[in-house]
Amino acid sequence: MRTLPPAARQALDQAFAYSSVASHRRREADGGMTIKHLFKLQDARTIETVVMRYEASSRSRERTTICVSSQVGCPIGCSFCATGQSGFDRNLSEAEIVDQFLHARRELAAIDRTLTNVVFMGMGEPLNNYHAVVAAIRRWARPDTLNFSPRRVTISTIGLVPFIERLASEELPVNLAISLHAPDDDLRGSMIPVNKKYPIAAVVAAARAHADRTGRRTSYEYVLLEGVNDSLAQARQLARVVRHPRSHVNLIPMNPIEGSSMAPPTRARIRAFATTLQEAGISTTVRATRGLDIDAACGQLRARELAASPA
Ligand code: SAH
Ligand code: SF4
Repeated sequence: MRTLPPAARQALDQAFAYSSVASHRRREADGGMTIKHLFKLQDARTIETVVMRYEASSRSRERTTICVSSQVGCPIGCSFCATGQSGFDRNLSEAEIVDQFLHARRELAAIDRTLTNVVFMGMGEPLNNYHAVVAAIRRWARPDTLNFSPRRVTISTIGLVPFIERLASEELPVNLAISLHAPDDDLRGSMIPVNKKYPIAAVVAAARAHADRTGRRTSYEYVLLEGVNDSLAQARQLARVVRHPRSHVNLIPMNPIEGSSMAPPTRARIRAFATTLQEAGISTTVRATRGLDIDAACGQLRARELAASPA
């Protein structure tokens, strides 16, 4: 607003916040194709947001995906996750979720790119902040704002069954990703405490009901941990658990986190695990790891920042 006198501009600046998220740190990796933001919120807490660009290939069109956070920290406490290990502070507001998108969108406009996909795979458990997450998705979708279709949005959840059921009853055709990570309840319960409340059979049944109701695909996320959940017998068991016409398995080699001895398997083992699933008739991909040199796995940049400068 350069037409206003400087004093008025200063007064406006002090009285209003243009965005609820402010850039605190910004790092690039993969030759600029991955950008990791550490955003500062108005109460000085920090969250991470990652923007990943993909060029067009023979199989897919050009894409730009934003990975947004839904909470500051996470109350679920998974053993392999930097966010889970850092504890829980608070839910994000609808505005703080919406503004992660708007910030990235403004930055991309300068290089003539636009956001094509949103994944709730940053910090936090989105279904533990249900109202703000659904409100943000509805706001992006409004024809008078961004007109960004829920079909381009994926909610990743650890499997909070009542909220998966509730999501299925909304008129909201979002994609669901279920963080499964183990084919049996004993192992899953040792990695993911909430599995005791919502065991695998209940989570898979809710995911299937969501897929049947919305017609959307369910992807099962599976972080591969060497010597823990990467045997070929476990791959065969996983195939039995997830079998459904619209199921897909996404294998994620573990991104090592500080203070944990867990590690990803060798590439040969990852390939063998993927092949075993495919031979059992399960559509499977291995996720390319992005931004390792900028701590781009969930919660890692913030964990490092907190360790360097305790609040
Ligand atoms: N709370 C939600 C969404 C955020 S986590 C969920 O758990 O689904 C997003 C994804 O990152 C999940 O699939 C999670 O399992 C995965 N993840 C967490 N820590 C990881 C690590 N160290 N390496 C690789 N993936 C990790
Ligand atoms: Fe929370 Fe997801 Fe991390 Fe588990 S994996 S602690 S649910 S963010």
